[in-house]
Amino acid sequence: MRTPIMAGNWKMNCDNDEAWQLASAIVERAGDVEGCEVVLCPAATALTTVQAAIEDTVIRLGAQNIFWEEKGAYTGELSGPMLVSCGCQYVIIGHSERRGRFGSVADDFTPELQQVFGDTDSSVNRKVKAALSYDLTPIVCCGELLSERQAGKTDEVVAGQLRAALAGFAADQVARLVLAYEPVWAIGTGEVCEADEANRVLGLIRGIVTECADESVAQRMRILYGGSVKPDNVPGLMDQPEIDGGLVGGASLQADSFCELIEVAAEVNSG
Ligand code: PEP
Repeated sequence: MRTPIMAGNWKMNCDNDEAWQLASAIVERAGDVEGCEVVLCPAATALTTVQAAIEDTVIRLGAQNIFWEEKGAYTGELSGPMLVSCGCQYVIIGHSERRGRFGSVADDFTPELQQVFGDTDSSVNRKVKAALSYDLTPIVCCGELLSERQAGKTDEVVAGQLRAALAGFAADQVARLVLAYEPVWAIGTGEVCEADEANRVLGLIRGIVTECADESVAQRMRILYGGSVKPDNVPGLMDQPEIDGGLVGGASLQADSFCELIEVAAEVNSG
C-alpha cells in the first residue's frame, strides 16, 4: 500500500501574513493527520513563515522550483542549499506553468511572453538531479496541452517528458521521486480529467518507471493527479487504483477545502 500525498501548490499567492494564516488553519485541522502525507508549497518569500507555522506537526514544506547550481551569478534563482535552509523537504519540478505551458492565459500573454517561464525537458532533468543531491524529494510534473490531447498525442507527450526527466538516473535514485500527471487543460480551468482516464495515464507512467528503473520501484512510486482537484471530485479520483494523491492548486488556498482533500485521501488509504 502506498501512502497518499496531498501537495498544495500555492503558486504566486499569499504574502507572509496570508501564508501564516492559511498554514496555521491547515495545521489546526490536519497537523497530526495519519495515513496521508501533506506538503505545502508556498511562494519562496513565504517558505520560512510556513515552516514556522508547521513546526512540530506532520506537515512538510516544499518549494515550487529549484536551480541546479549551488551558488553564483544567477540573479533571481534559488539553489538546493537555500531551499534546505528554509526547511524544504520537497520541490515541485517541471510544473507546466514553469515550462511556459498554460491551461488558460490572458489574450496579451503571448506565446513569446510565456517563454519567460523557460523550463525544458533537459532543465527539468538537471533540476531533478540537483534536488536529489541535496536530499530534496522532487515532485516531477508531466502533462499534455489540450491541442496535444485533441491530436491523440497524450501518451507520447507524457512518456517523452517523463523519459527525459528520468534520463541517466539509477533505480535507487528514481525510487526517491514523486511523480505528478497534470493535464495542462485541467489546471486552474475547472475542467477535471475523468477519473478513469487519469488512472489510465498514471498506469502508463508506472510502466515507464518500470522501464527506467524496475517493477518494484514502479510499484512503490507515488504518482499524483493534478488538475482542478476539488472536494467534490476527490473521492472518485482517490478510488482509482493508480492515483496516490493530488497536486492541488486552487483548492489548496482554502484551509477547509484542502483539509477535506487530505481527509478523503487518508480515509481511502485506511479502507
Ligand atoms: C496545480 O497547480 O498544479 C494545479 C493542478 O492547479 P489547480 O488545482 O488549480 O488546477
